[in-house]
Amino acid sequence: MSHPHPELSAPDALPTGGLRVIPLGGLGEVGRNMTAFEYDGRLLLVDCGVLFPEDHHPGVDLILPDWSSIRDRLDTVEALVLTHGHEDHIGATPYLLRERGDIPLVGSELTLALLGSKLREHRLKETVHHVVVAGDRVRFGPFDLEFVAVNHSIPDALAVAIRTGAGMVLHTGDFKMDQLPLDGRITDLRAFARLGEEGVDLFLTDSTNAETPGFTPTEKSITPVIDQVFRESQQRIIVACFASHVHRVQQVLDAAYAHERQVAYVGRSMVRNMGIARDLGYLKVPPSVLVDTKDLADLPPERQVLISTGSQGEPMSALSRIAQRNHNFVHIEEGDTVLLASSLIPGNENAVYRVINGLARWGARVVHKGNAQVHVSGHASAGELLYCYNIVRPRNVLPVHGEIRHMLANAQLARDTGVENVVVAEDGVVVDLVDGVASIAGKVDCGYVFVDGSSVGDITESDLKDRRILGEEGFISVIVVVDSVSGKVAGGPEIHARGNALDGSNFDELKQPIIDALDRAVAEGNTDSYQLQQTVRRVVGRWVSGTHRRRPMIIPVVIEA
Ligand SMILES: [Zn+2]
Ligand SMILES: [Zn+2]
Repeated sequence: MSHPHPELSAPDALPTGGLRVIPLGGLGEVGRNMTAFEYDGRLLLVDCGVLFPEDHHPGVDLILPDWSSIRDRLDTVEALVLTHGHEDHIGATPYLLRERGDIPLVGSELTLALLGSKLREHRLKETVHHVVVAGDRVRFGPFDLEFVAVNHSIPDALAVAIRTGAGMVLHTGDFKMDQLPLDGRITDLRAFARLGEEGVDLFLTDSTNAETPGFTPTEKSITPVIDQVFRESQQRIIVACFASHVHRVQQVLDAAYAHERQVAYVGRSMVRNMGIARDLGYLKVPPSVLVDTKDLADLPPERQVLISTGSQGEPMSALSRIAQRNHNFVHIEEGDTVLLASSLIPGNENAVYRVINGLARWGARVVHKGNAQVHVSGHASAGELLYCYNIVRPRNVLPVHGEIRHMLANAQLARDTGVENVVVAEDGVVVDLVDGVASIAGKVDCGYVFVDGSSVGDITESDLKDRRILGEEGFISVIVVVDSVSGKVAGGPEIHARGNALDGSNFDELKQPIIDALDRAVAEGNTDSYQLQQTVRRVVGRWVSGTHRRRPMIIPVVIEA
């Protein structure tokens, strides 16, 4: 979208021996992460995620990265590296594979398993999976990749070091430095230090929490809070969290076991992902804790726990439906406890508070980030980022993954530690690494690509503007039949309004001015139906804004008969 370099034009050809970084999404928003690396005429992609729409994107299901600038070069893509299994990193992959199905997919076991189930849902079968573990070093064309364990709010996340003739790039992916993670798998700072010793020419770092001072608290700090919620609850407990947060689910399962409750999953993605995590050994389900929802309903309320999707207030999610009391089998009751064990992604605030209010209205006690320490972030805070810069000592830094404010804060942290060259670029701003120096080389088109039902990329910003006008102002339609020989109005105007206070008016005072204006237009020789429609639009627009102070959408239809 927008970026601080309006003067930029398309980049020149990449100098021989240089590495080009093309951010296709995620630099300027939290979501739709995707970056292309170009070396010696070949491409490597890192991540391919989605962005969830906000209120000003009515009717949009998903927003994809914009890979139109490399679309005609997809045959030169050596691999797509997926750093971890979050939707903002893997969610757009099915759409990319529709354009070239045999791009090798590279990632950890859990990441590729979560992606695999998504690809099957999209009926994509013949995909190429290449499972890696931390410490692996594999080559794809001119890209020599090394994977490093990082700790995040999903297990099995990886950073990737990319070595080419232009030097070494280290991309953290999403990470934090929890020193006491539930699975004991910490961010491998020794590997970061070793790579730093070898020389990191360009360091791409997660900016999400760069504005947050200090250190992100450990996941283990939540355990006593969850325990307390369980101790205080007399009736059913409903926990909502991300369907990929295996460790949060683990904590809830352990608490349920300790308090002799049983657990059922609610929501398709929760059932699916936790099944995968259990099968692969990332989730350890205590004996006989897990039951299906029907069996759970037979238990007394004080023995029941539900783990549900919908912690971001998504309108179709299980939790939203529970809050509206229109869920098929979960009926919220007075005295129930709802625990929202998740962060609040910017843009989702209204939806989340709507759900909290809905639940509270039925008498539920709602425990959330605003009133208890029930969640810690998955991203490194400023203190952790400073540590990383000091350990890696990179030559150049490119902040990634965040809104512009996050990336600018991250850039300042890098400078504070003495990094001399920090480049801040938003989506579409091309950064070249040549002779060890990173600099902005130009820009490529990088807009929002909207998915709406089965259409991908067909809905434009102007369609959304129309939808917003329709949503806020409704519409007025005017149908007029014009005699094709005489040009006189032969029928109508028939006027209808919907979605505004004019709905049901008879519009008598408007009809004659429309007929007069059309007569005048025809007398002046304007007989083309587009021009006549514009004439009708002007008359109606003036009347409705002058008389009613409204600006609805006006749909004039002139039929020649
Ligand atoms: Zn993530
Ligand atoms: Zn992310």
